[in-house]
Amino acid sequence: MRPIGIFGGTFDPIHYGHLRTALELQATLDLAVVHFVPCANPPHRAAPMTDGALRLKMVRAAIGEERGFVADDRELVRDGPSYTIDTLASFRAQFATQALCLMVGMDAFLGLPQWHRWRELTTLAHIVVAHRPGWQAPTSGTLGELLRERRTASATELAARPAGLVHIQPVTQLEISSTDLRDSLRSGRDPKFLMPDAVRQIILETEVYAQSL
Ligand code: ATP
Repeated sequence: MRPIGIFGGTFDPIHYGHLRTALELQATLDLAVVHFVPCANPPHRAAPMTDGALRLKMVRAAIGEERGFVADDRELVRDGPSYTIDTLASFRAQFATQALCLMVGMDAFLGLPQWHRWRELTTLAHIVVAHRPGWQAPTSGTLGELLRERRTASATELAARPAGLVHIQPVTQLEISSTDLRDSLRSGRDPKFLMPDAVRQIILETEVYAQSL
């Protein structure tokens, strides 16, 4: 069975950095499907400025007809802080034996030791880290230790086990961030070509980040 990708984020808003990373990981790791999971109440950062329903709507618009991409509302319909460990437990309840790949960017991976019950994450899923070419993986500290114990270079190995490994995968880096997009919208700049036009249309229509451009 092909592995399932789980890509969490605030997606406030979703942009081509997210989408391109998901697409490349899906192709390289032969993921059956990638679930985009907008976070409701992120425990490790400020609350998103946009409500969950609208962020989900933008994720749906971004995905469009893309086969194998799914907008997943499981964190939005859950109360309390959106702990990834709970999200992975919910995926594991749904997919008993299939490999689960938690997909994170390099910045998110470096903050992993601050996540709730982070050491248990690998009991439920693999962790796949998307990074810029040439970036050096940590060799010391807790993450260095995690990589020494669990790192694999093999996509085949990921598919063969339900959880427990860490894989680092270079992807094309697009220097786009939601923070920069929100800032530039507030400054009256158009986000054209940094995100799918369907997402841009929602932003312009709702004036969620800035009033008329
Ligand atoms: P913000 O600027 O509000 O922090 P963001 O653009 O970093 O937002 P998030 O929704 O916080 O987006 O990120 C979700 C996931 O996507 C994280 O794992 C993050 O590392 C990854 N990610 C964000 N931007 C990019 C990008 N340009 N390329 C690859 N991965 C990215």
